[in-house]
Amino acid sequence: MSKEIPYKIYLEENELPRQWYNVRADMKNKPAPLLDPATHQPASLEMLSHVFCEELAKQELNVDDAYIDIPEEILSFYKMYRPAPLVRAYCLEKALGTPAKIYYKFEGNNTSGSHKLNSAIAQAYYAKKQGLKGVTTETGAGQWGTALSMACAYFGLDCKVFMVKVSYEQKPFRREVMRTYGANVTPSPSDTTAVGRKILEEFPGTTGSLGCAISEAVEAAVSHEGYRYVLGSVLNQVLLHQSVIGLESMAACDKYGIVPDVIIGCAGGGSNLGGLISPFMGRKLRGEADYQFIAVEPASCPSLTRGKYAYDFCDTGKVCPLAKMYTLGSGFIPSANHAGGLRYHGMSSTISQLYDDGLIEARSVEQTAVFEAAERFARIEGILPAPESSHAIRVAIDEALRCKETGEEKTILFGLTGTGYFDMVAYQKFNDGVMTDYIPTDDEIAASLAKLPKMD
Ligand SMILES: *Cc1c(COP(=O)(O)O)cnc(C)c1O
Repeated sequence: MSKEIPYKIYLEENELPRQWYNVRADMKNKPAPLLDPATHQPASLEMLSHVFCEELAKQELNVDDAYIDIPEEILSFYKMYRPAPLVRAYCLEKALGTPAKIYYKFEGNNTSGSHKLNSAIAQAYYAKKQGLKGVTTETGAGQWGTALSMACAYFGLDCKVFMVKVSYEQKPFRREVMRTYGANVTPSPSDTTAVGRKILEEFPGTTGSLGCAISEAVEAAVSHEGYRYVLGSVLNQVLLHQSVIGLESMAACDKYGIVPDVIIGCAGGGSNLGGLISPFMGRKLRGEADYQFIAVEPASCPSLTRGKYAYDFCDTGKVCPLAKMYTLGSGFIPSANHAGGLRYHGMSSTISQLYDDGLIEARSVEQTAVFEAAERFARIEGILPAPESSHAIRVAIDEALRCKETGEEKTILFGLTGTGYFDMVAYQKFNDGVMTDYIPTDDEIAASLAKLPKMD
């Protein structure tokens, strides 16, 4: 098949996926189960249902069903902003002078500006279906909070967002977008929860972290009747919803006979990476095809490349179930890197297991190198990328330049998770030449890892 590849491949409405793909069903080594933090026994559906919506708790525990139907209501919301285009980066290829072919799946074409809406709408739907009043959550850079606010507005649910303080201050416009969609936004740590007050007492002046905001959101959910907690990354259910990214990408590739050799995604909690690679990983796990997968993380928060594979708390306040994952320790507070969405101390248990099994590679990249790539991409391809997404751009460009040296005509696919319009303070720092690269020392990481929960 040698159809001419258009700049942008859009699937037809009737080609959109109608089921999500659950990669755990095809994994020989399943991700380790969540554990009850008190008993260290696997978390039951009943226990999880106190915190999460019941249907989402079921999805969390489902390691058997490869395909799960996408409810009609969610499909019709998806149709408002999907399919996301698969773009051939012809201009970037030319500018780099590479024989490689570069594709990116662009998830920034919705008001939230990122892929997070794919899971937000699903989680809001199940909360509504369960008859809940509202949901609580945390947000780092603000993308998840924005996506959830949009989803809650659509289904008429109340939405309480705990926003990591540093982002709350750096990104007032994000906050206002959330409020415009009707959400209630609180900077975290706050004095509105017991765990927030405790963290403030212990670390006065802290700029907060995702782990800490999660603790507050969970507490707010379990202490308010008719509320549940929802999370925008890390969890298996989120990877499941995000598989729509990979399924669309795979359908578009198959339609045009495109066979990616390398698939690259940035990794914060692992949801866009997991969503993009899942169906391809399924083929690899079933022995039908082979691909190289690369997770890209910031050098300032290197959970895969420098963390430990162990059970850890998902949050600073230690109220969530324990997850086995590559982690830097739940007390690890990364430096104020501008890719807020990548500042999480752990990694999805599915991605962690696949990485531990050698099925995924990981690379860490420094902030200034990421922004160099971001600016180059913006000037050549036109899209102003989110700092998180630009981690994937950095490695895609590196791979394409390597092909230029070796003459290999590899096909590279990467996830362009969102736009960076709300990240102009970061771009300003880069443009002014005052951006720094803070990399934690081995001692700092070791000190944090020393506080991992003791498992017997
Ligand atoms: C949240 C976010 C990420 C990182 O989250 P994952 O769960 O690892 O995908 C990446 N890019 C953008 C634009 C985000 O908003």
